[in-house]
Amino acid sequence: MEKIISQILSHFSDEKEKSLITKALDFASAAHQNQKRKSGEPYIYHPLKTALVLAEMNLDATTVAAGILHDTIEDTPRTLAEIKNQFGEEIAFLVDGVTNLGRVRLKNQSAKIENLRKMFLATAKDIRVILIRLADRLHNMETLGALPEEKRKRISLETLEVYAPIAHRLGIGEIKGRLEDLSFLHLYPKEYQWLISAVASQYEAKKKYLKEFEPILKEILIKENIKDVQVNTRVKHLWSLYNKFKKYEMNWDQIYDLVAARVVVPTVENCYGVLGAIHKHWRPLPGRIKDYIALPKPNGYQSLHTTVFGPKGEITEIQIRTPQMHARAENGIAAHWAYKERQGVKTQELTWIDQLREWQKEVRGSDEFFESLRIDFFKDRIFVLTPKGDVINLPEGATPVDFAYQLHTDIGRQCSGAKVNNKIVSLNTPLQSGDLVEILRQKNKKPSRDWLSFVKTHLAREKIKAEIKKKNLAFRPLPKTTELKIKARDRIGLIKDISGKIAAQKINIIAISSTDKSKFPLINISLNIKEKSRLDRLLIELKKIKDVQEISYK
Ligand code: MN
Repeated sequence: MEKIISQILSHFSDEKEKSLITKALDFASAAHQNQKRKSGEPYIYHPLKTALVLAEMNLDATTVAAGILHDTIEDTPRTLAEIKNQFGEEIAFLVDGVTNLGRVRLKNQSAKIENLRKMFLATAKDIRVILIRLADRLHNMETLGALPEEKRKRISLETLEVYAPIAHRLGIGEIKGRLEDLSFLHLYPKEYQWLISAVASQYEAKKKYLKEFEPILKEILIKENIKDVQVNTRVKHLWSLYNKFKKYEMNWDQIYDLVAARVVVPTVENCYGVLGAIHKHWRPLPGRIKDYIALPKPNGYQSLHTTVFGPKGEITEIQIRTPQMHARAENGIAAHWAYKERQGVKTQELTWIDQLREWQKEVRGSDEFFESLRIDFFKDRIFVLTPKGDVINLPEGATPVDFAYQLHTDIGRQCSGAKVNNKIVSLNTPLQSGDLVEILRQKNKKPSRDWLSFVKTHLAREKIKAEIKKKNLAFRPLPKTTELKIKARDRIGLIKDISGKIAAQKINIIAISSTDKSKFPLINISLNIKEKSRLDRLLIELKKIKDVQEISYK
């Protein structure tokens, strides 16, 4: 444990920062005293490992201290008030945020994956809360072995579907890769083992080759007057290798980047210089030169990639980047955040959404997931929970009535009241992301016309309108005109007799015509009758007329 502590502290030089971290450590140690994890080790290892991941991302002492304290409210008798009292508002805010985010997750096992991701993002009020949760999840995944299989698989699936994509979205490549590989191990153990053994020989050969390649490359770059060159190797993460492998129908020959050479040079100019020097000596493979410096990936990733026929004609991938690009590729938004901190921008005063938006502005290009995040997520959507923990996605300003209709038409119709976070509220109360909403129902209840003045969703509006229309149908007036068809034996004075009877009833004749000139013409009469009872009376009178045989009406 001493080792982890000194590793964490090694990332800080300021005495104040060091003492903050030590204080958090003392508090957490006392709080978790006598607690053990499923693996049998003392509980305090878990928050310390979490904090170490954060320190390695170069996050500030506040975030690292919050990482150490992240489980103290949830799992020990310590309270938020105590943390606020001892560590101040900001750390208390972060610890509270991490605790709440954990609650959301637990309630949401039945929720749809896509909504879960959004919920996760919407509920976190500060980007650091997400970073702490990711670090927490990483250590939980690393110690998953102590849990029963079913639980391991469930947690791994959630990690693969929710946590890893979020890490990817935030550009935290390193954590994303580790989360995916650990999920892979638990979800598909056979495939994992197969891949490891299949890769082993290839991997060793390639690594040996790159060891020989390194000095040759360095020598060339020195001749080109590019200094401060660092060359190392990058091994592809297993889950992404496995997917690539499947994509190329299990053909090794298509996979050139199992192990890549990575060149880190001080400036952007150097990066292009290195690319030129490499192409001068080794012929590049067509179509595999990628300039992610000029055109960064949507999550902010920057580097130059090329694949060349290296020494001995071996196909080799080379990635070229500056140290800043490298930090960004590994730590994504965390690197950005740490960088902003150093520049003295008061990032913590921005909400995490502002941070993400601002960060987004710098990011160009598009990618499906990111697009969907931007469109759905930033088009002012909120995410609320059902009592069962399902996530319901609604437009901003949506009310309990919108929520009720989203669940089911019957729930909408019978909605008589609502509880938000266990408090009774009026039906027009705008909901907030993260609210737990319960609808109170009353049988035989009908939707109210007033609801139309505050509902926000198209669905609720249409359903309410339809319901009101149905209600009004019961009092439906007769159509404006009634069409009579009278079949009668033709004779002089027939039309006069008919129209006389109608006039006697004080009913307006709109039009009268007869269809043919046979012995039995069909006489069509349009009448203006408001009530069914008057029509009935008229029909009786008309039937009394001589030579009238049949009357029908519409
Ligand atoms: Mn934890």
